[in-house]
Amino acid sequence: MAARTYAFRNRDTFRSRGYGLKANEQSQVYGGVNLEDPRTARAVNDTRGILVTYRGEAIEALFHAACGGVTENNEEVWASPPAAYERAVACPGCRRSPLPPWKARFDYPTIAKRLRAYGWNVGEITRITTTMTSTGRIKDVMVHSSTGTARVPGNNFRIMVDRKAIRSLRWMGQASGTAEHDEDDRSSVPSPTGSTAMGQEPEPEVEGDGSVPAADTAIRDIIGRYVADDPGGRFLEVMGVGWGHGVGLCQRGAKLLAETGRSYPAILRTYYTGAQLGRAY
Ligand SMILES: [Zn+2]
Repeated sequence: MAARTYAFRNRDTFRSRGYGLKANEQSQVYGGVNLEDPRTARAVNDTRGILVTYRGEAIEALFHAACGGVTENNEEVWASPPAAYERAVACPGCRRSPLPPWKARFDYPTIAKRLRAYGWNVGEITRITTTMTSTGRIKDVMVHSSTGTARVPGNNFRIMVDRKAIRSLRWMGQASGTAEHDEDDRSSVPSPTGSTAMGQEPEPEVEGDGSVPAADTAIRDIIGRYVADDPGGRFLEVMGVGWGHGVGLCQRGAKLLAETGRSYPAILRTYYTGAQLGRAY
């Protein structure tokens, strides 16, 4: 339902190139008819023409692989106005059944090179710090370098540096000279206009997971045990949970809810606050 609604609403995205959508993460991944599963085919046919709506309109219907315990408000990830149906909500499935955290490591010169490739004026990096959203995700990454401090939106940082390795913005621990959260750090390097990676990037592979923000004892234990290989080194090492941007429907959570017998309208309403179902064709 979410995939259909997303496709319906974005069906003109690439109209100027003669087609509507791409079969990859830029729109939605589709592996071809040979990879279709009879169960999903049946779900598609049984719900033909039905979309997820809010106030009578098809919603943006963003989704991601795994939220790690709580989803995110859309405006925390993109510079877009808050959408009433894309609020941060608790995800019972991801809380009950967390998967092991992921870990990613990059040395400072690599990070600087990748940011520069997107037009950020980053010199020799001396330190990397972060600010957080209300759900405990990374909001901005402050890249302190010889040219000043660049305030990079977390989701852009993730996409520019390595979105496959940095699976989510829910970082539980950071190592090197980076284990701080700045609240008042000001950016002295202007962000380049129009050159940063944006993308809604729904990520269909369901993998990865974890749990909730700082209040969760289990996660604190993990952070407490987490030690950098080389605390004096010039690198950023991050451990995190979840997979994807965290906005909208959590695929792992939706699957776990379905396995407990929750109906699909109830599951959709869990992740899209105030949403309804409507027939479009
Ligand atoms: Zn979830």
